[in-house]
Amino acid sequence: MSTNRANYPNTQLFIDGEWRNGVEGKTIPVTDPSTGAVIGTVAHATKADLDAALASVERGFKVWSATSAFDRYKLMRKAAELLRERAGMIAEIMTLEQGKPVNEAKGEVLAGADVIDWFAEEGRRAYGQIIPSRVPGVTQMAIKLPVGPVAAFTPWNFPINQVVRKLSGAVAAGCSIIVKAPEETPASPAELIRCFVDAGIPAGVINLVYGIPAEISEYLIPHPVIRKISFTGSTPIGKQLAALAASHMKLATMELGGHAPAIIFNDANIDKAVKLLAGSKFRNAGQVCVSPTRFLVQNEVYDRVVDSFTTAAKAIKVGNGFEDGVQMGPLANERRIPALEELVNDAVANGGELKTGGRRIGNEGNFFEPTVLSNVPKSARIMNEEPFGPVAVFAPFSTLDEVIDEANRLPFGLASYAFTGSAETAHQLGQRIEAGMTTINQLGLALPEVPFGGIKDSGHGTEGGSEAINAYFITKFVTQMPA
Ligand code: NAD
Repeated sequence: MSTNRANYPNTQLFIDGEWRNGVEGKTIPVTDPSTGAVIGTVAHATKADLDAALASVERGFKVWSATSAFDRYKLMRKAAELLRERAGMIAEIMTLEQGKPVNEAKGEVLAGADVIDWFAEEGRRAYGQIIPSRVPGVTQMAIKLPVGPVAAFTPWNFPINQVVRKLSGAVAAGCSIIVKAPEETPASPAELIRCFVDAGIPAGVINLVYGIPAEISEYLIPHPVIRKISFTGSTPIGKQLAALAASHMKLATMELGGHAPAIIFNDANIDKAVKLLAGSKFRNAGQVCVSPTRFLVQNEVYDRVVDSFTTAAKAIKVGNGFEDGVQMGPLANERRIPALEELVNDAVANGGELKTGGRRIGNEGNFFEPTVLSNVPKSARIMNEEPFGPVAVFAPFSTLDEVIDEANRLPFGLASYAFTGSAETAHQLGQRIEAGMTTINQLGLALPEVPFGGIKDSGHGTEGGSEAINAYFITKFVTQMPA
């Protein structure tokens, strides 16, 4: 049976191995961003629910940290297989609540299964060290132990992907976790959790809550049961939560906003650059922390690139994510429409040229036109603030040094993109762009096995690659000799 408005599931909390409503019975409405219609509800946790989740996650940690890495691996692999089997159904739920095209949603669910597999394997390879001793008979060991119960806060742009990286890292390492998943898109992450439940995860290892984000984070982060937090969202909120975590000496991973430069040199393969970058810009309606945003194009090819990118933007089919051939759905939140309109108007007022787009489409649902702005000066807000929407901003440059200065000008440092035919230029960019990730002549970010994270105001820590699981371990030193 396919999922539609009529059978969209209401989402409950998952606490101590049970799906249940909040103690006070409160709920939050969930809307379909392609129509604005309310399609269901999500349970709203209050303090009593959080206390229950905290007691549960503490018990869950005792059970799970005492479970062998091999048994954790086997359960995770089973959860990944369940997620693959259910990908079609979960993708439909995701499209209903988030808006992205259903094939994109399915891709996200399947990629989530790969993330679970990756961390499951990594958990089995969490090697420590034996350190040569100065004293005969003494053994010195550095061992990795799970850090403890985790609290994770995830946003609505990738309802599965944002949860699965944190959840899989924690569970693979032997931690228990409370996930505060997004209230706007609650049902698809709940289906992810259900895969772990159906695979046999013991009660308390995973708890799932929704409610008022600030209330939940302010309660969970300082709580002595919680030993580590992980947050994905905007830089201002990330700074608040990182400060709160620091004041309670909690470890924190922060995956925050970006403003990725996409640099195209005269010697680049222009057709390939435009094709790949246009696809990347409008994916998920630009609501992606690694979305290319500042398109910096070398003088000689500037007009050609802007023209062909504008043609590509105009050709994007926008609509309901369930319709055939739709490449871009609505924005997930209505509040982003005035925010984007203001950024576009400000760019034009500052001398930027609107090549296409810039407006809401129709008056039902949160649809926004794929938008291209050209010759936008640095003083415009959009050259400094993350648009988090389908807007590409172009500006010309002449030299390598100039474009590296521009790429590094902002406090953000998450993703960066470049296209060049020169091996020397590629090398310089790889070394000198201040960003957690640089992808050159291809789109190669966000696979489970490669690092994923930012620097500067984009946060700290990685949620991919061989280092990611370390966020959920402490290193303990043990030294011993025979009695
Ligand atoms: P927002 O800043 O209100 O919220 C961003 C996310 O943080 C949401 O999921 C929200 O539920 C959560 N949040 C907000 N306050 C919180 C708190 N005190 N404690 C815990 N969680 C809290 O912005 P928004 O309108 O939802 O999204 C727009 C902005 O958010 C964008 O400009 C972008 O920078 C950022 N964002 C980034 C990502 C990412 O992948 N890095 C994802 C979604 C949103």
